[in-house]
Amino acid sequence: MSSDLQFTVEPNTQPASDDQRASTLENPGFGQNFSDHMAIASWTKDKGWHDARITAFGPLELSPATSVFHYAQTIFEGMKAYRHPDDSIHMFRPEANAARFAKSARRLALPELPEAAFLESVKALVELDQAWVPSGGETSLYLRPFMFGSDPFLGVRPSAQVTYCAIASPAGSYFSGGVKPVRIWLSEEYTRAAPGGTGAAKTGGNYAASLLAQAEAIENGCDQVAFLDAIEKKWVEELGGMNLYFVLDDNSVVTPELSGTILEGVTRDSILKLVTDLGHSVAERKISVDEWRDGAASGKIREVFACGTAAVITPVASLKWKDGEVQVADGNGGPVTAAVRSALLDVQYGRAADPHNWMTKV
Ligand code: PMP
Repeated sequence: MSSDLQFTVEPNTQPASDDQRASTLENPGFGQNFSDHMAIASWTKDKGWHDARITAFGPLELSPATSVFHYAQTIFEGMKAYRHPDDSIHMFRPEANAARFAKSARRLALPELPEAAFLESVKALVELDQAWVPSGGETSLYLRPFMFGSDPFLGVRPSAQVTYCAIASPAGSYFSGGVKPVRIWLSEEYTRAAPGGTGAAKTGGNYAASLLAQAEAIENGCDQVAFLDAIEKKWVEELGGMNLYFVLDDNSVVTPELSGTILEGVTRDSILKLVTDLGHSVAERKISVDEWRDGAASGKIREVFACGTAAVITPVASLKWKDGEVQVADGNGGPVTAAVRSALLDVQYGRAADPHNWMTKV
């Protein structure tokens, strides 16, 4: 039944005109414009996965009682398709997103979408909407697969009816100012995820929980918020939507270990391999906020960068908290951050060989 789920194509009869699309692609921004189609499939307890289609992008009609509105039983993914110099289109490690989506589904008591069906849905969507993949600069087509409890029922239990959907959004650079080092606010009051909670799943509630802390970051003149572990409030976990890396004065690279409360980023995992390729030793271990503060002050930490699908790799200029701020080196990023960033982008944009077989041609 579910393992051979096929997405049938129902072409949009009113797609954007060539002019509308061209003007959108000239200045895509992030997450505000969408391609002509979306993938959609339904799941019920009785029938399993069924009614899988690629159809016109448009509103979903849902009862106000729909369970996701009340109990947040929802998961999502974020991944990108890139246009290569020969105009072919490639996705970056989509199977890693498929696996993480299945893992998130298990934690949220949602039915697993077979990984082959996830991959087929995004591939078919990108193929049909390939004209929406921008070219030039660091542009891409951002893909957002998601799943939610769609049962119109107010009882608290795993939804007996579930909707899977994938949409596509042409994307320029994530930070409005282009690539510039970011200032990070340390959240000392709020935490993001506790042991046994949902921190390792890509679920809406984690992001809802981060918004107030992110607003505090902005109020304090920062771009992003860093969270500590919820128990000791001592160990650096991650940003609201990105993982963190540190470059030490012996040229080794470290990143917080997977604690069960941070999201296992696909970019984070790729960087573990890229920095090894670049000749650095790399460790996944606990990093305390004192190690960050003291190391940045003494020069033991030479570079800090944040990484994720949307923001790629972004240098961290400084860490700010209630009573102080410490800059990392000269605050402008450094050579290791720059080298890893180009190595990753060169593979994604087809300017370099792909030794780890990360790219999937659409
Ligand atoms: N942490 C969080 C909380 C995130 O939302 C993201 C973005 N998905 C990441 C890390 C980075 O993950 P990825 O590299 O897979 O985009």
